[in-house]
Amino acid sequence: MCGMIGYIGKKPVVPILLKGLQSLEYRGYDSAGIAYMKDQNVQIMKEVGKVNNLKKHCQHLTATKMGLGHTRWATHGVANQVNAHPQRNSGVTIVHNGIIENYELWKQKLLEKGYQFQSDTDTEVACAVISEAIKQSSTILEGLEIAQTQLEGSYAFGIIVDQDPNHLYAMKQNSPLIVGVCPDGYLIASDIPAVLTNTNEYQILEDGDIAILSEQRVTIYNQGIEQTKNIQTFTEEIDQVTKDGYEHYMRKEIQEQPAIVASLVSEYLGDQQSHWSDLPDLTAYQKIDIVACGSAWHAGMIGKMLIERYAKIPVQCYIASEYRYQPHFLDSNSLVIVISQSGETADTLASLTLAKQQQAKTLAIVNVARSSIARAADQVILTKAGCEIAVATTKAFMAQITILSLLAFKTAKLQGLLSEKEIRQIEEDYKTLPLLLEACIYQGVDQAVVKHLATKEHAFYLGRQIDYALALEGALKLKEISYIHCEAYAAGELKHGTISLIEQETPVICIVTDPAIASKTISNLKEVKARGSYNFLIVTDQLNFESDVYQDKLILPSLNPLLQPMITTIPLQLLAYQVAKERFCDIDQPRNLAKSVTVE
Ligand code: GLU
Repeated sequence: MCGMIGYIGKKPVVPILLKGLQSLEYRGYDSAGIAYMKDQNVQIMKEVGKVNNLKKHCQHLTATKMGLGHTRWATHGVANQVNAHPQRNSGVTIVHNGIIENYELWKQKLLEKGYQFQSDTDTEVACAVISEAIKQSSTILEGLEIAQTQLEGSYAFGIIVDQDPNHLYAMKQNSPLIVGVCPDGYLIASDIPAVLTNTNEYQILEDGDIAILSEQRVTIYNQGIEQTKNIQTFTEEIDQVTKDGYEHYMRKEIQEQPAIVASLVSEYLGDQQSHWSDLPDLTAYQKIDIVACGSAWHAGMIGKMLIERYAKIPVQCYIASEYRYQPHFLDSNSLVIVISQSGETADTLASLTLAKQQQAKTLAIVNVARSSIARAADQVILTKAGCEIAVATTKAFMAQITILSLLAFKTAKLQGLLSEKEIRQIEEDYKTLPLLLEACIYQGVDQAVVKHLATKEHAFYLGRQIDYALALEGALKLKEISYIHCEAYAAGELKHGTISLIEQETPVICIVTDPAIASKTISNLKEVKARGSYNFLIVTDQLNFESDVYQDKLILPSLNPLLQPMITTIPLQLLAYQVAKERFCDIDQPRNLAKSVTVE
């Protein structure tokens, strides 16, 4: 989601801003812009579309001193040049990540006072709120403190105030923001990659912080009190973000999955088993909730089903944006597991905060070690999938379900529910899993199915139990990147209404991997086939189907159900990828989507 960067210092500012914005592009955005100083005045350049578009218009600029850059993921007002950031009103220029929830109220009040607005954004209103607050204060800091009490919602702001051309200001509430410490000045940014070409030293801003940056120093206040913050050094290798010869990042990331699973398996089940004890003991809790959004929520559903099935412990799985607003029954005997690739997902972070307030223990399964969720949770399991660039997650999802599967396995062992023989067999299976994943990627999906789907505007995914959670993930992948409308249904549920949408040749992709309920799903397949559907089966090699229930099928190796979800995921990813390619879609950066969903 939106990225921001700001710089004050001795170097030419525009290249720093553009480079910073390019390193934040993976988060997803629809327009980009910069503000820079020329003869003590703020100049703004904004363009709809990619940063490259903006670059063409401003790379010749030789501005120095300070500037702000932004990639916008529109929340208030369409993605056009006027609504792009930086926004400016009444001598205050802002880049903003987040949503000002009470902006309409303020807009009304300020219109009555004679303020005028050019854009539809909540951000422009924030400029005016800050400007008005500064007017009524003796210092800019005091004005920003007043504005903090007036603005509700979430924001990370980079701010230039006309009356003080020697300082860059920043403040944050519920959206991530860091300060980069350079030898020649200071940066602000929404994530570490944006500062890395200039420095690996940074400070993390907390909610309520106001930072005042000059060329020589940064001073941070919170509720009027100056804060002392540690300077942290980023020492990790930043992943080489290249396509490695693949046409798309998504395809490359699919290919990386066997190695990621292999390294997780060796981390937890390797000969030393050194990290096995790091997996928490779920038997210690009376209540377990899993909370996540999007694909991570699907991973959570799979986790819930595996833990319940193998460890016989009830688990609830919730969508984070719902969880936040429902009644909770948490206490210190509860565990709340949050799952997020970026570790910045706003609703998931809010759910984590809520769980902590209610004294529950919290466990985060995240990919980004330095993220807000990783920092806030009591315990963290890193998915270690490496930097994921494609907006549609593949390898991070794979790592999430692998970790949840290992958690279920460990819990089942602790509960004494597996024999020694079973344990040995399952451990062996985990070790051969990477090879099987590789084989499934190599096998690919049938071009005939790809071509059939690519011409359609509607499709269905069906499955039961874990296959239903996977159907949800398969449908989401297809929607995200190919723009085909696809509904995932619990196979038995379709006839309660939705079967009315099945027409001649409607594609129905059906996942059947559980022999215990396969016959039930076959009946559902017959129901849709009788109404003209084009059935594509994703099934395991131990299941036999009469040829009259499908037009095409893909056969997967059948594994212990603890491991089957990982294998079954592969064709879902490949199918979405191939279909999107066939439809010439922008696979790595699909329209309207953001990688790191930092707004609620
Ligand atoms: N709410 C602001 C807007 O729509 C900022 C969105 C963002 O985080 O990019 O302009």
